[in-house]
Amino acid sequence: MFSYRHAFHAGNHADVLKHTVLIAALDHMLEKEAALTVVDTHAGAGLYRLDGDYADTSGEAAEGILRLLSEKKEPATPAPAAKSATKKVAVEAEAPLADAIARYLSVIHDFNPKGGARVYPGSPFIVQHLLRDHDKLKLFELHPTDARTLDANIAQLEAGRQIVVLREDGFSSATKFLPPPSRRALVLMDPSYEIKSDYGRVLDFAAEALKRFATGTYAVWYPIIPRPEAHDLPRRLKTMATKAGKPWLHATLTVKSSKLTSTPTGETKRPGLPASGMFLINPPYTLKPLLAAALPQLVEKLAQDRNATFSLESGG
Ligand code: SAM
Repeated sequence: MFSYRHAFHAGNHADVLKHTVLIAALDHMLEKEAALTVVDTHAGAGLYRLDGDYADTSGEAAEGILRLLSEKKEPATPAPAAKSATKKVAVEAEAPLADAIARYLSVIHDFNPKGGARVYPGSPFIVQHLLRDHDKLKLFELHPTDARTLDANIAQLEAGRQIVVLREDGFSSATKFLPPPSRRALVLMDPSYEIKSDYGRVLDFAAEALKRFATGTYAVWYPIIPRPEAHDLPRRLKTMATKAGKPWLHATLTVKSSKLTSTPTGETKRPGLPASGMFLINPPYTLKPLLAAALPQLVEKLAQDRNATFSLESGG
């Protein structure tokens, strides 16, 4: 069985990128009155304590959401290391927070009315928070412990039939909800990529989903790591979307170098996740300008060394 537990990673820089994009996309899609179905193929536990054991052990939120929160009130003066990293994307001092970041932080604040981020909402809770009564949410989670926690967390919302939690393989089962009756859906694919085959399964899922429901919005998160499959994934998604005649948007956020480093005692150290990307097929047209303003600020605020950078491209 899998060993990946999202609780170790909740609120890290990858979650910041993923959830900022997710919220911005949903905000636009929820402007239309017709019901929206959100399918989360890899849901996780739903809600995380950042002052709990898991998060304390990894400390990843400290370089993600917590850094963003502590930066919020300070003037936007880049740290020396971040300065060169953001040279091309310089953010003006005192620049107001980009709308997409401000909106992301306001959602996190809704879960932490006293301030800070002791509680971090995963994608199921973020989505549910934004949905209206007539929208639907389908959640897939396979890990037995996380599925149980997700069930218990969702039960507290008393959302009734609005939310369905399925302890099933999201890759093989989630297309059964496509197309939804209202023919409006956003599908988030956020696997742990613990096994190499996840990359291929994302592609198979996206191909099948597009066949069933060509106008759905599909959002794929992926890690940018030195592994051929990770490199190929956005390239192959681009080809798939282009062949299907569908618009796409690809955003990446790098916070540090991916190179191995040496400790003073001569040991080799892995850098941890240096970067990640979000690839969307049929993105809302409002997303690109929002991300164009937000990504340079995320680079500035989350940079861990001079390699921090972003990319944003679109097609179709
Ligand atoms: N989407 C969540 C969020 O943003 O808060 C985080 C999800 S986490 C990166 C990936 C989750 O997928 C893990 O909890 C893992 O147990 C689960 N998982 C792995 N393979 C799965 C599969 N084939 N179907 C459903 N869930 C799976």
